[in-house]
Amino acid sequence: MTVKFKRLALIGIGLIGSSIARSVRQHELAEEIVCAARTSDTRRVALELGIVDEAFDDPKDAVKGADLVIFCTPIGTYSTLAETIAPVLAEGAIVTDVGSVKGAAVKAIGPHMPSHVDFIPGHPVAGTEKSGPAAGFAELFVGRWCILTPVEGSSKAALKRLSDFWAAMGSKVEIMDPEHHDLVLAITSHIPHLIAYNIVGTADDLEDVTQSEVIKYSAGGFRDFTRIAASDPTMWRDVFLHNKDAVLEMLGRFSEDLTALQRAIRREDGETLFKIFSRTRAIRREIIDAGQETPEPDFGRVHKSDDD
Ligand code: NAP
Repeated sequence: MTVKFKRLALIGIGLIGSSIARSVRQHELAEEIVCAARTSDTRRVALELGIVDEAFDDPKDAVKGADLVIFCTPIGTYSTLAETIAPVLAEGAIVTDVGSVKGAAVKAIGPHMPSHVDFIPGHPVAGTEKSGPAAGFAELFVGRWCILTPVEGSSKAALKRLSDFWAAMGSKVEIMDPEHHDLVLAITSHIPHLIAYNIVGTADDLEDVTQSEVIKYSAGGFRDFTRIAASDPTMWRDVFLHNKDAVLEMLGRFSEDLTALQRAIRREDGETLFKIFSRTRAIRREIIDAGQETPEPDFGRVHKSDDD
């Protein structure tokens, strides 16, 4: 494949930025990889891991001469960072991001972009509950969707180049408008995170069930929520603050459906419960068939027998 950039500048090098750096190295998609990071610790770790050639304190130094710039920081940082780097962006550079909300990325970065760059927001729908440069891995994007949300003025050639870049890292690429992205992700990602944060918080607040009981019997379902609820608080705070409308819209529907379930339980309406639970089981089957999940029971966890 002919996707090769001269200089890739990653603004922020946590889980996502460092996974991009690793994958770009592995697939030789850039001659030079540099990053900007806020703390000296993060810059040191990125250099020690050998995933970047240079790490800068000032994002302007990272983007100078870069033909691909990727924002890999929490969404709340975008506007200030975009304003900072705008004056030094190279002619013809592609500027993109990996943020989980796209309308907000357009609003925060778009107005600062000079006309001589191509700005195309993006979102790799891939991640884990871990943070920081040591948490990344090159295969994170393999088989996962990357959604690109071009804006008015994004050139076709740049969109093709960026699509090829993500495809070369193993992603399946989809083009969408930013508002639709935010609605789809509200139900598939943001609300599930909110539910996980809420249920784990509720369990923590209970007075008549002890903490040790919650932990001891967590395999009953609770444990699977705790993985999601361990996700980075800064990133997720920013997701909810910046996708407020779509999340509130989906949350309204969720509450109505929850009320229907509550009513079915109160009325001992087993038929309704059975019908809903059968429908949801079929959805999991579809996710497995689409290759988005392992068919192994209990996510393929290894269960040690009591004799081990
Ligand atoms: P992360 O591991 O916490 O890394 C965040 C990076 O941003 C770090 O390098 C951090 O630098 C830097 N940073 C934070 N605040 C900053 C500021 N005020 N100024 C400059 N740099 C700052 O986060 P991540 O999981 O990679 O997430 C990054 C982006 O990817 C977010 O926009 C998120 O929405 C998106 N995303 C995440 C996932 C996921 O599952 N995690 C999936 C898809 C998309 P220091 O380490 O020096 O503080």
